[in-house]
Amino acid sequence: GGDERVEIRTAPVTTAEGTPIEVAANVGQQADLAAAADHGADGIGLFRTEFLFFDRASPPDEDEQYEAYREALATFPDGRVVVRTLDVGGDKPVGYLDPADDENPFLGERGIRRSLGPDADVFETQLRALLRAAATDAGGRLSVMVPLVTTVDEVVAAREAIESVAAALDAAGEAYATPEFGVMIETPAAALLAEPLVGHVDFVSVGTNDLAQYVMAAARGNRRVADLADPRQPAVLRAIRRGVAATEGTDVWVGVCGEMASDPAVTPLLVGLGVDELSVAPASAPRVKRAVSEVRDDAARDLAERALAAGTREEVAAVLDGTVS
Ligand code: PEP
Ligand code: MG
Repeated sequence: GGDERVEIRTAPVTTAEGTPIEVAANVGQQADLAAAADHGADGIGLFRTEFLFFDRASPPDEDEQYEAYREALATFPDGRVVVRTLDVGGDKPVGYLDPADDENPFLGERGIRRSLGPDADVFETQLRALLRAAATDAGGRLSVMVPLVTTVDEVVAAREAIESVAAALDAAGEAYATPEFGVMIETPAAALLAEPLVGHVDFVSVGTNDLAQYVMAAARGNRRVADLADPRQPAVLRAIRRGVAATEGTDVWVGVCGEMASDPAVTPLLVGLGVDELSVAPASAPRVKRAVSEVRDDAARDLAERALAAGTREEVAAVLDGTVS
């Protein structure tokens, strides 16, 4: 039931058989940071930096961002903080950065496309702030993640941007560290290309909100097509699995940071699919941690296999409900 009180666990959790699963939190506004800590999250799995850019007339400068990232790190002295570089456009408009004439912003210049194009200066400032924050002893480990990737070239270019910022900081004698680097798998292209992408990153995180939207050609947030833009659609599940499978046998870790991860009813499925980390709404962390602790690895793998074999959303739902075995 939604109102029942669930114990807050501050320690990391494992499945019933001892497989460690990191349960981190999504942060999309300032208040989420304290909420994440209060609910026992292990760290931040998705820090949506857009909120630093909303409701103002120009981007926050390097020092303002540096302080914001330091604060996130200080909140989780023993954890990992995954900061996503700016993901504007589509459902995340930032007036002073968005192109005025883009007829279809969801398929236009958004996310990493802007950072590698017209907003390269904004990207550079953000990377400088991130690499400087990574060097401080403010607390946890910093990871940098880029959104809406569709090609290997974008990943290579993003890494080069980080390297060139590192070289500039080095030349200026400023303290910096090179953070762990990852990409979101939230487009069909990234899921289909997961194998080559994995060769260029330390981690991937599956964004099931955009992945469902783009796999199903059904806008997120449009109630008329909500049944289609649903991660329980077999096509979406197969895309998720493809992203996860590409990390198997590598050192690359894989998380899920879409809304789906916040639902404890799908925790066994996601663990069974092979994920290492779940990044959830702060208030969901206690329930998801409890769900992880109850997972039996073999049963979860079997559940995932049956869900992947299903041909309709209803069949997937029935497998999750345990009414089909
Ligand atoms: C996603 O697309 O699933 C995701 C986690 O990112 P956002 O919701 O911020 O687009
Ligand atoms: Mg997204």
